[in-house]
Amino acid sequence: MEINDQVKEVLKKHTGLVFDFEKYSLIGELFLPDGDSYEIQIVLYTYPRLFPTVYETGGRIPPKMDRHIYPDSGSCCFTTRAKSQILLKTKVTSLLKFIDEVVIKYFENNSFYELNKHYYGDEYSHGKMGIIEGYKDILKIDDTITTAKAIIQATTNKSLKKHQNCYCGSGRRLRKCTNGKHINNFRKLLLVEKEVLESDLRNFKEAIEMYLERNDKEIK
Ligand SMILES: [Zn+2]
Ligand SMILES: [Zn+2]
Repeated sequence: MEINDQVKEVLKKHTGLVFDFEKYSLIGELFLPDGDSYEIQIVLYTYPRLFPTVYETGGRIPPKMDRHIYPDSGSCCFTTRAKSQILLKTKVTSLLKFIDEVVIKYFENNSFYELNKHYYGDEYSHGKMGIIEGYKDILKIDDTITTAKAIIQATTNKSLKKHQNCYCGSGRRLRKCTNGKHINNFRKLLLVEKEVLESDLRNFKEAIEMYLERNDKEIK
């Protein structure tokens, strides 16, 4: 669907929003299913390569990382770039789905936090560790170095090789490992742009170096 039509679809359902051509944004009041609402601006420039950039403009959420707002830009922190690219190619295939399944859930979670002082569901760390955890979650493995190797594998062959060994280190063929679960995870990784994979790999390098440095000091 063309972006224009996707915008129309959003405006039809979310009647508190309008489209501002100059700001290339959806702006206004977003109502949650329970009747609560948030003043927001959704800037579309990065879409559909990445999630749109969303701002809570009512000043209700403090601009802090642990409240899932990036303090430098003031925009909402939804998920990592890698995960957003996977979602955009699988579940979140329109702006309406982005609003209904990502933005509304984000604000519902914030309303929950205001009442309970903690979020519901899984919490991710931010920054470098958040990026690494994101990949571990995509691949469903725990080990940082194995995760980095899998990303390298995904950047070097952007297509699946028939007899490729599984990224998990089991020694089994990717197609046969864990009854196909690992090959599905690896396919998700292939949905992430090479550019994103490569720039995220730098975080692994730093995290591994930090880890080695720490262990070095402990030995001395
Ligand atoms: Zn966050
Ligand atoms: Zn495996």
